[in-house]
Amino acid sequence: MNRSSALSVQRGVRAGVAGDDLFQQAAALGFGDVHLRLDAASGLQAVVAIHSTRLGPAFGGTRCIPYPSSIAALNDCLRLARGMSYKAAVAGLPFGGGKAVIMRPAGAFDRTALFESFGDFVDTLGGRFITAVDSGTGVADMDVIATRTRHVSSTSGTGAGHGDPSPYTALGVCRAIEAVAAAANRPLGGLHVTIQGVGHVGRALAAELYARGARLTVCDVDPALARPCAQDFGAAVVDPELIYGVAADVFAPCALGGVINDDTLPRLNAGIVCGAANNQLERDEHGDALHARGILYVPDYVCNAGGLMHAVPGPKHDLRGRVRAIYDTVAAILDQAARSALAPYRVADRMAERILYGE
Ligand code: NAD
Repeated sequence: MNRSSALSVQRGVRAGVAGDDLFQQAAALGFGDVHLRLDAASGLQAVVAIHSTRLGPAFGGTRCIPYPSSIAALNDCLRLARGMSYKAAVAGLPFGGGKAVIMRPAGAFDRTALFESFGDFVDTLGGRFITAVDSGTGVADMDVIATRTRHVSSTSGTGAGHGDPSPYTALGVCRAIEAVAAAANRPLGGLHVTIQGVGHVGRALAAELYARGARLTVCDVDPALARPCAQDFGAAVVDPELIYGVAADVFAPCALGGVINDDTLPRLNAGIVCGAANNQLERDEHGDALHARGILYVPDYVCNAGGLMHAVPGPKHDLRGRVRAIYDTVAAILDQAARSALAPYRVADRMAERILYGE
């Protein structure tokens, strides 16, 4: 039997009033509502967090990875959903921010049944939330979801919003790196870029950078993904734990979030952090710490918006041109940051908050 429950957390609830970590966290992040679904038959344990629908329906990928606890899954979902609101706002898209997280069952499971059940869950939200691929999900999973709800994108059909958004994400990240390099009067060719994670986006980014003459060092916890990059892009391949210490111009995180933290920050040996992973900063103060160390951090949700531009429903007029224009957005943020002496991520947050809340 399916059982579901929903929590509604209004933006503006003062942190601490509820005396509950979840509500405090959600209120501090400016939610929105959070929905939980348990389905014993398929083993589905899922969260959909809707951060904002002010600019349009909340759009966000569905992540399906193992989590150490339901609280960890919930926190990931909340932070990712907020990032989607900011991403859509700065990218000028008429969508709000949301995210879904499925706790990947341990051991063997019926993937079709899991995603059918998840599709039913998304359908109950009546279009307030539209989903797409994210870490641990692919186009085939979106096809399964589409058998249960129309509020899904990145399916295998042809035309607007269909297919894998990763090449567009990679193109946008590449353009962001180009913008940072240009601000420092350096061409992209000859830059040394380290890429953490060469899955869908990381590998496509490696291809973009290689085509423009950059030198690459890559890593992946899956050696079968890292190794071919040596042959295909002339990349050096290093152990995942060593990637932070590689002396490079740019470190491009393209695996999971939280990789800029107390442990990794002192080891970072690149002057720029610019990659696709969502929520790269474990906490905001890590962005300030990067700034204090003179490491330029390009806000993740700004440079990785190409996938969102591709995945959202609606006309896709000059999609590549709009993704390429991430260059201009990054250049404008860097310019404002230089004038104000603020960290670029704070400039981007202010830009997003002005659009979202008029603040
Ligand atoms: P993916 O799962 O295809 O690739 C991630 C890769 O990182 C995998 O190959 C995995 O083995 C590797 N990895 C995991 N942990 C690692 C570690 N500690 N060190 C090195 N490698 C590790 O995911 P993806 O679609 O390429 O997305 C990558 C990141 O970019 C995610 O954070 C995702 O949320 C974000 N993102 C993706 C898109 C998109 O279009 N796919 C859009 C925006 C943001």
